[in-house]
Amino acid sequence: MDVTTMTIHELRDKIRNKEISSYELVESFFNKIEKTDEKLGSFISLNKEKALKKAKIIDKKLENGEELGDLAGIPIAIKDNIVVEGLKNTCGSELLENFVSPYDATVIKRLKAEGAIIIGKTNMDEFAMGSSTETSAYKITKNPWDLDRVPGGSSGGSAAAVSANQIPFALGSSTGGSIRQPASFCGVVGFKPTYGLVSRYGLVAFASSLDQIGPITKDVEDCAIALNSLVGYDKMDSTSIDREKIDYKKALINDIKGLKVALPKEYFDERIDKKIKEKVYDAVKVLEELGAEVSEVSLPHTEYALPAYYILAPSEASSNLARFDGIRYGKRAENYESTEDIFINTRSEGFGEEVKRRIMVGTYALSSGYYDAYYDKAQRVRTLIKRDFDKVFEEYDVILSPTTPTPPFKIGEKVDDPVSMYLSDLLTVSVNLAGICAMSMPCGYVNDLPVGLQIIGNAFEEEKVLRVGYTYEKNDKIKEKTPEIGGEVNGL
Ligand code: GLN
Repeated sequence: MDVTTMTIHELRDKIRNKEISSYELVESFFNKIEKTDEKLGSFISLNKEKALKKAKIIDKKLENGEELGDLAGIPIAIKDNIVVEGLKNTCGSELLENFVSPYDATVIKRLKAEGAIIIGKTNMDEFAMGSSTETSAYKITKNPWDLDRVPGGSSGGSAAAVSANQIPFALGSSTGGSIRQPASFCGVVGFKPTYGLVSRYGLVAFASSLDQIGPITKDVEDCAIALNSLVGYDKMDSTSIDREKIDYKKALINDIKGLKVALPKEYFDERIDKKIKEKVYDAVKVLEELGAEVSEVSLPHTEYALPAYYILAPSEASSNLARFDGIRYGKRAENYESTEDIFINTRSEGFGEEVKRRIMVGTYALSSGYYDAYYDKAQRVRTLIKRDFDKVFEEYDVILSPTTPTPPFKIGEKVDDPVSMYLSDLLTVSVNLAGICAMSMPCGYVNDLPVGLQIIGNAFEEEKVLRVGYTYEKNDKIKEKTPEIGGEVNGL
């Protein structure tokens, strides 16, 4: 029995039925990580001692018949921009190399309360800026399906870890696509919840009006289980929304008869790889045969989404990252003669190229002479994009599209060409700009590389997205076509 290939729902049963102890489970995942991570590079740091201790406590509770949380004894991994008390939180940056968090993010508190066991922190693009995990100051994470390719980003470590069976569930964060795009590249499920649904308290801010934390899992059922443990009002996050608690597992219904599905023509244009489109159309056909009513629609402002995002996200970043000044957090430059020197030298030495590029673009866009021309204009575009979605959702339940315009690209292919890297986010940024929700799930393979299907839902309609995804997963044969999951392909 190789427990590392199993889903949360399978492992949960095994723990509860005492077929395996949490201690054995945690050990198995560490063995897997120790065997594979030199090649794969998913993790920045591990938490072995504390994790094994915690597993022992869970096993004791189980023995005593005590009540257990929903994720009792389940190992999880956390992107390195979500803080965990007592663990390093680097954000993939040299600047925070030795920063240890004094507190838990709200999502971490929730996960711990459910009994989840934190195994380690995963690699990411520096401060979540990137689409390949190559901008990390520490290492390049590889795609488990082809070690010469990127796992996507910025939550590339989390997606690669789930795909290669190093962990059944990892947290990512999305500002413009950083959960869905790596999930697509690595052949796993990634969910970006509606803005305000999951607390951002303890997530290191990149662009606060866009950032959301979300789960990366092996299947849709696990995704619902994960959402149950993450969602909820938090007074520590002023954008958190107080809504009635939903049991997302109830959305796992294998039936979509009569559901109205929209295909936006702008998401299938000539910039999208032909073979990817074929796979997505195949998935649409499966859903149509099951009774979904499918029509083509238009989201006319789509072409302005990427330029608007690449003004707004850097603008917010330039302000958010001002706190990394060598005084309050992390590293301080060794040589300085004045306070101003500390700021300049620390930031010059500590930040990588992509982060500096964003800070410069953002500062420029917000400067008094250019504010109207760039930032203000981009905000207006953002409203138009939101209205495009509002209109479609008046009539339709979900929108389907590919998640990415291309299959996973080669390491080094785009890292020196920022604009071509930014194009990776073509199909994901609009959802963040509109604050709505979306999931990416595997829908087949092109040249043995996974393809992602994006299911977009209106604000707070996570249940519809899960239902469509669950129905698709239960009725499509993609797993049968490729029995090996993730890392197994590479003997990882
Ligand atoms: N790739 C996008 C960027 O570089 C999105 C990143 C993210 O969602 N964190 O900004």
